[in-house]
Amino acid sequence: MFGKQVVLLMEDWYKQIKSSKIRSDILKQLYFRKSLLHTDLSLIYDRSIPVINKIINQLIKEGLVAEFGYAASSGGRRPQQYAVKADAMYTVAVAMDQFSTRIVMMDMHNNPVTKIETLELRLNDNPAALNLLVTAINNCIGQSGIPKEKILGMGIGMPGFVSVSEGVNYSYLDTGIQKLTDYIYTATSVPVYIANDSSLVALAEQKFGAAQSKHQAMVINLGWGIGLGMIVNGEIFRGNDGFAGEFSHIPLFEDGALCLCGKQGCLEAEASMLVVTKKAIEGIKQGKLTSLQSFVNEPLQVIANAIFEAIAIGDQYVVDLLSDAGYKIGKALAILIHIMNPKVIVLSGLGTRAGKIMLAPIQQALNKYCIPRLADKTELLISTLGFDAGLLGATALVMENLNDDILNKHFKQQPMDKMPTK
Ligand SMILES: [Zn+2]
Repeated sequence: MFGKQVVLLMEDWYKQIKSSKIRSDILKQLYFRKSLLHTDLSLIYDRSIPVINKIINQLIKEGLVAEFGYAASSGGRRPQQYAVKADAMYTVAVAMDQFSTRIVMMDMHNNPVTKIETLELRLNDNPAALNLLVTAINNCIGQSGIPKEKILGMGIGMPGFVSVSEGVNYSYLDTGIQKLTDYIYTATSVPVYIANDSSLVALAEQKFGAAQSKHQAMVINLGWGIGLGMIVNGEIFRGNDGFAGEFSHIPLFEDGALCLCGKQGCLEAEASMLVVTKKAIEGIKQGKLTSLQSFVNEPLQVIANAIFEAIAIGDQYVVDLLSDAGYKIGKALAILIHIMNPKVIVLSGLGTRAGKIMLAPIQQALNKYCIPRLADKTELLISTLGFDAGLLGATALVMENLNDDILNKHFKQQPMDKMPTK
């Protein structure tokens, strides 16, 4: 009688493991935290060590997880760490901006397994953009040689009003009545997740960068525009319709320059990298002495790169342009700090390369416009991920969406080993 009860309990236990989402959750934990002990996982999931061991062994048997060296000893034997196997699965990461798109295949240790392809792709008024994008993604997948069943999904960060839940970008890449995500899935046979570019930069900073383990963080995506990704109570905050964080278009300057959105005086129209680059061109034409002179007829991306290079030699004109932009961004950050009271503000994205020059004028604007009680406790940091943040965020988006159903489609769960009798 007693034996039968034990068998029933064990059957329940197997069913519980099978039906729970713990298998994909453990993989996610191992991916985002690089490596963990089974005691860590036991605490995270409030499961006993034998249960966690069982699942880990199962994942090892399935070729998804591997032993990953030993942690430091706290007295006894050094405990074994586990990690997702780098070649267990792959993701396609796509980071788009107004003018160019980067595409790369990543392994589970966030190492690129293909060359990062940079495609010149203007989004505004360009009906050919979508087909060019899909062709470039298919080329990346084809060149990688990775079979599609090992590709968990594709994350795409893109500018514009992006609805994560509807799979639509209301600003660019119009697909009529079809969802943008469905369109790209049909063309590539890889599941597609989209999000606003700045929210993915924030996700990358939260998972791998300067905002790691920060519950209240504002991540500024300094690019052609000035994006904002908000981490509120430990989660990416998207607002009611998914459009929160339009920092670029807060109206800061009376009678300011005309913005792409059609209004005047937006932050973006006064301080984005696009504006800094255009001002640089104007200045050169008016005879300003600067090392940028020979670049005046080059494309905007080339001039922007030359601006970043000119920082190293202390080009006074470039320092003035970036300082002016930094001060204006600082004024806008004062508003953000007053409303959100963040623990940390991270300057991330393409413009991180100018972060060092911009920090002082941003701080000066905060000194002037921000209430010290709030500003003093807010750290201002420059991203260490920099321009890679967009690609890392796109990969993280795929991994965030991983669940047991998706995992089982790619890796059919093997039968569980028998429960140890002791
Ligand atoms: Zn605007």
